[in-house]
Amino acid sequence: MERPLIEISALNKEFRGGIQALRDVDLTVASGEVVVVLGPSGSGKSTLIRCINGLETTTGGSIRVDGQQVNGISQRRWRKVRLNVGMVFQNYALFPHLNVLGNITLAPRRAGIMRRAEAEDEARRLLDMVGLADKETAPVASLSGGQQQRVAICRALAMQPKVLLFDEPTSALDPEMVGEVLAVMKRLAQEGITMICVTHEMGFARSAADRVIFMDQGEIVEMASPDNFFTAPKAERSRRFLELIS
Ligand code: ADP
Ligand code: MG
Repeated sequence: MERPLIEISALNKEFRGGIQALRDVDLTVASGEVVVVLGPSGSGKSTLIRCINGLETTTGGSIRVDGQQVNGISQRRWRKVRLNVGMVFQNYALFPHLNVLGNITLAPRRAGIMRRAEAEDEARRLLDMVGLADKETAPVASLSGGQQQRVAICRALAMQPKVLLFDEPTSALDPEMVGEVLAVMKRLAQEGITMICVTHEMGFARSAADRVIFMDQGEIVEMASPDNFFTAPKAERSRRFLELIS
């Protein structure tokens, strides 16, 4: 069998003050797989994906991306391996002083992966894919939330990451803009991009996920196909969660 793209084993994260945000989390994700992470507020979803991106230090266990250790390593090594991991945040986190093209081309140029012309060609290809071909010179502040989030997805993809992490990418959006962002995410899923998505969008989980994981109190309580999870959740805590949101 092919080695999983992401291998997380016995991962622990304790914040200062003694909050155990992750408890012995084991998770493997295959290349091309789409994993949706569900769970109540405070269950450790953001902490899990922030650890994969090296935004949080860990207090135990290991995370490997494409065979390379990404936790507990030097800053210098981390700067290199994190290039494999793209992230899309709830609040887009675009650079406000740059226009759309500048936001997308900055990281690949800085990292020396692409020269300007090549980075701009790639950015235009990505903007076209997300339906924003006419916005390349727009200041980001002139865009709607849904448009900004689509630019943020392009920015992450421009680095050609091996995996794309999403932390509630539609939670800050007005309802009428949620669909346009989910449509882009579905398309990426169909194109075989490996994704780990924290989201409360159950429709997306049902239609795009290969696997759903349900977290509670820092643990993965249940891991199942979306069909099984939504129609026949096994764990009591999953059942309660689904009752609350339905
Ligand atoms: P979720 O994303 O599922 O809502 P989080 O991963 O943000 O949950 O948080 C998991 C737990 O860790 C919560 O109890 C939260 O209060 C705590 N936590 C998160 N970030 C920090 C931090 N920087 N310092 C201390 N505790 C934190
Ligand atoms: Mg969170």
